Amino acid sequence: MASTAGSSTPLDSASSSDPTSLTSSLLRARPYRFATQCATVENPDPAHKDQYGASSVPIYQTATFKGMGGQYDYTRSGNPTRSHLEHHIAKISNARHAYAVTSGMGALDVIFRLLKPGDEIIAGNDLYGGSNRLIGYLRDHGGITTHHVDTTDPRSFVPYLDDPAHNVAMVLLESPTNPLLQIADLEEIARVVKRYRKDAIVVVDNTMMSPYLCRPLELGCDIVYDSGTKYLSGHHDLMAGVITCDRDDLAKGIYFTINSIGNGLSPFDSFLLLRGVKTLALRIDKQQANAVRIAQYLAHLGFKVNYPGLPSHRGKAIHDRIAKGPGAVLSFETGDIATSERIVGSTRLWGISVSFGCINSLISMPCLMSHASIDPAVRAARNLPEDLIRLCVGIEDAQDLVDDLEAALLEAGAVRVVDEAGERAVLERVRPAAAAEKEQGFVELPNARVEASGGAGQAQVPKLVTSAPGKVILFGEHAVVHGVTAIAGAIDLRCYCLAESRSDGQLSLVLPDLGYAQTWDIASLPWDRVVPGSVSLKTGPKADSPPDQELLTLLANQFVNQDQLKAVQAAQAFLYLYLHLPARPAQTYTVRSGLPISAGLGSSAAYSVAVSSALLYSHGVLPLPSPAPSPSTAAIDAPHAALVNSFAFLAEKVIHGTPSGIDNTVATLGGAVAFRRAVKGREGRVEVIQPREGRAVRFLLTDTKVARDTKTLVAGVAKRKLEEPDTINPLLDSIQRISDAAHAALTSPTLARGEQLAELARLVELNHAHLVSLGVGHAALEAVRSKTREQPWGLATKLTGAGGGGCAVTIVPDGASPDPSPTFGALETLASESDANSLEVFDDADFSDELLVSLREALSASGFDTYSTSVGGRGFGVLVPPASAVEVRSAEGGAEASAVPEKKRFDEATGEELGRWAEGVEGWVRA
Ligand code: PLP
Repeated sequence: MASTAGSSTPLDSASSSDPTSLTSSLLRARPYRFATQCATVENPDPAHKDQYGASSVPIYQTATFKGMGGQYDYTRSGNPTRSHLEHHIAKISNARHAYAVTSGMGALDVIFRLLKPGDEIIAGNDLYGGSNRLIGYLRDHGGITTHHVDTTDPRSFVPYLDDPAHNVAMVLLESPTNPLLQIADLEEIARVVKRYRKDAIVVVDNTMMSPYLCRPLELGCDIVYDSGTKYLSGHHDLMAGVITCDRDDLAKGIYFTINSIGNGLSPFDSFLLLRGVKTLALRIDKQQANAVRIAQYLAHLGFKVNYPGLPSHRGKAIHDRIAKGPGAVLSFETGDIATSERIVGSTRLWGISVSFGCINSLISMPCLMSHASIDPAVRAARNLPEDLIRLCVGIEDAQDLVDDLEAALLEAGAVRVVDEAGERAVLERVRPAAAAEKEQGFVELPNARVEASGGAGQAQVPKLVTSAPGKVILFGEHAVVHGVTAIAGAIDLRCYCLAESRSDGQLSLVLPDLGYAQTWDIASLPWDRVVPGSVSLKTGPKADSPPDQELLTLLANQFVNQDQLKAVQAAQAFLYLYLHLPARPAQTYTVRSGLPISAGLGSSAAYSVAVSSALLYSHGVLPLPSPAPSPSTAAIDAPHAALVNSFAFLAEKVIHGTPSGIDNTVATLGGAVAFRRAVKGREGRVEVIQPREGRAVRFLLTDTKVARDTKTLVAGVAKRKLEEPDTINPLLDSIQRISDAAHAALTSPTLARGEQLAELARLVELNHAHLVSLGVGHAALEAVRSKTREQPWGLATKLTGAGGGGCAVTIVPDGASPDPSPTFGALETLASESDANSLEVFDDADFSDELLVSLREALSASGFDTYSTSVGGRGFGVLVPPASAVEVRSAEGGAEASAVPEKKRFDEATGEELGRWAEGVEGWVRA
């Protein structure tokens, strides 16, 4: 162990008034710069003076030391070579204490031993795989729970920090992450953590940066560790880990463990690591310069490159504040797994290897190598592209590296030569079909109006209302994570947005359901930080580009009630969109939710679509649609709906980080959607299913109000899939058949109505049984099911969404006479497997409104909230103010002479009242 305060600054003792001597003493008083500190290994402790004046620290290859009362007695407790190394590490890290152990994971293990059973950790969701493995061990054997959050957003920590039920004792961070190179604002996160939990220990894995590029202790973090196997040693010839901290109490705990378990670094490896550290700055300077060149080369060819050294990187501004350079690891996507495999296999200079930090350049495909131990479903959930290639750049000649990569790209068919005339061939990227589709995003919008406007002015449309539906997952939840098709449908519980002009240069957002309202002075919004043209008003925001992180950070400071997380996220999305539109009208937006918030029914997507459409119409970006000839005729042009959807998707990204896009698509287009996410070797797919006219299916949604932990439930299924593939895979296959059958039932041109409902009910039962077998059931959901199965109701119910409590969905027949013995082909056998689930639901065809009311009463007597809805309804709508006043039924049944309700009533009506009002009013034009 070593302590260094002040020792790195050689001070001259000159005290003369002679100006020459003063200048020289000032020069000598300057602390050495990093490269000098690395190269000069000295230990001011007189006990470490070498008796022979050795200029390289000797290897004290001994287990024991003679005598009593000396500084060393046993190498497990301390060794002079290790002490020299630790002193040196403390010096270059500007830390009070440093320790050297046998590996990076050994360092993390030592740090974790500061925790006790019952403690909780908050960690990133893109952590090094080895750290995840150790976290799993702690969970199973140490009673320590870890919550994974999106570390690119410091707010994602707050729900755990702010909740006294969570015993958060440690926060574990990496920045940039590996291999996605995402940036965590270490400084801001440390501040947030300390604001809520001053005793929680903020730990940073600094391996990607090394103390040369980032020193997290200086940013307010408590403990930093590095895998010394990487940049610190630099030659892939040893394994080591180093830990630094400033706090004496933490240092004491760390040393206690190292001494107790004996994982201090051996004398020989300490010597090697010390030798490596001397050239750290030199190596990183060269490796980083090469990495910048490679990143620019790939980005220039049109590949999606993850590297904080590129101006396009979403976390660049934050990274530049907390670190001195972008480092020498980058990753890029080709759009096609086979192409990536060919590239990796075709390089010669770039060695195929795990790990990084070596002076030689390395290439790898994380999903096949370093991250292969992570279940593909979990990788997909973390948005880790299967085609990702990671490059760890070394010190070779940059041109040789480019040449070798270029040759590999050509051989793999990832680029082609378009002009051979010059000294160097001009290349062009060959986009695999799948990548082209992914990057293209949404359809072209032919007739959007693009008008720039200066200061705050008038909205093009002084007052309008928009609405958008929530969604329910009917079939395939959980299985969807593993590549099975899910069917989701729009419900008729909707979100409503009232946009009104005002004339005072102010912008207000009012969210009565969240108890939130705020007004901004439009002129003082950060207009100068919006990159002009970054969001196209013709084609909409790009589907695959994230929001501008720097602008989001700026916007995060605009909110008064920072603790109202949901409202702040909603407001941030609203402001983000507002800032990207050309006009700056003074307006008030009031948004009401007629569907439960955070119950898994797509309330945020309904909000995003309602707000996006209100902004686009009221700002005049989209022309108001002409009223529909009949209420059932879709009158919003498809390209206009696509633009609304792409803006809503951007809002969803601001709110959720990396949403799949299914919720906003359903909320925009209505109907139902068959959704299959991309998994290894297979493309994703979204297919809009429009049920036959008049064929919306009635459902009862029951919110058990039991909180669910979606992440844990999803992870539980992924774990069982790994551990019990023979049990879980057939269930997933069966759920795929259920989704296919439901798709067919919803769209069949021949199926009679009764047959359709009967088939859906049967599929509901089957799917629920499978979900229970997957382990995501819950007693409260079974209570709902058994109630709905009772006579006189006898209805089929399944959990919807995550399970573990949450919501249940019950099919409500609409009175038509079903076929009492429908045939289901392959599913018939599965149905008979679960005898307990056989129902007599189809015999009673006449399900009156009274029956529905009595069922709702029975469920609410059991403490559940119910919502009556139908699935497969219309998408978003805009209420076009009529030329002449239209009569509207008020919630109380009276008549009103306006198509748009008064704000006060809009603010105060219940969700159901709003729904009734919207049903009754004429003038809606819907997608
Ligand atoms: N942290 C990061 C970011 C890593 O990449 C690694 C190894 O790849 C480790 C920690 C673990 O280090 P070691 O292999 O020295 O145990």
